[in-house]
Amino acid sequence: KPDKPEIRGLGQEGEPASVAIPRIKLVLLGDSGVGKSCLVLRYVRGQFDPSSKVTVGAAFMSHSVHLQDGTTVKFEIWDTAGQERYASLAPLYYRGASAATVVYDITNAESFQKAKHWVSELQKNASGAIVIILVGNKSDLTEQREVTTETGQEYAERNSMLFMETSAKTAANVAAIFEAVALKLAGNGGAAQL
Ligand code: GDP
Repeated sequence: KPDKPEIRGLGQEGEPASVAIPRIKLVLLGDSGVGKSCLVLRYVRGQFDPSSKVTVGAAFMSHSVHLQDGTTVKFEIWDTAGQERYASLAPLYYRGASAATVVYDITNAESFQKAKHWVSELQKNASGAIVIILVGNKSDLTEQREVTTETGQEYAERNSMLFMETSAKTAANVAAIFEAVALKLAGNGGAAQL
């Protein structure tokens, strides 16, 4: 048998190319205007650019993340791209999702009520165990705050969800959303393979 050339994946020391990178489908939910697109753009491109919003269909963006424990995961982040104005999203949106981020705007109490709607929507539509993280975005707008940190935290705890307050504008806690989800999935026996 001729020797096969050794191929290493991702240029990482000691990692065989044949090892598939775990993929995590993460769906974004939340009222229009809470900052879902801005959070994704901040995370994937490192920018705050409200004008470059994706507007057609339910688009997704991929982003590979190196975790602190040395493993790599690939997020497929699905954005509703405006479809959230309908009562329910298409089943395809939820299919295969192992994580969901439900976003509200801390300066908008109504968006927090809508977040609760999306949590029940998720519980109806997502199959199997799904990691849910509740995110209170626009934490930079402290003077306009309408939803206290405790309110968000308590609701998340009661519903066994992770919780984070973020700012797509300043980048505060944005990467932390995805790290927390990946860690939780790893604790649940590994990230789902789509
Ligand atoms: P989506 O409809 O949920 O996707 O919301 P967008 O991402 O389009 O954001 C709606 C608006 O909120 C944008 O015009 C942004 O300027 C603003 N925005 C989003 N995130 C933040 C944030 O963290 N802080 C502040 N101050 N504004 C934000």
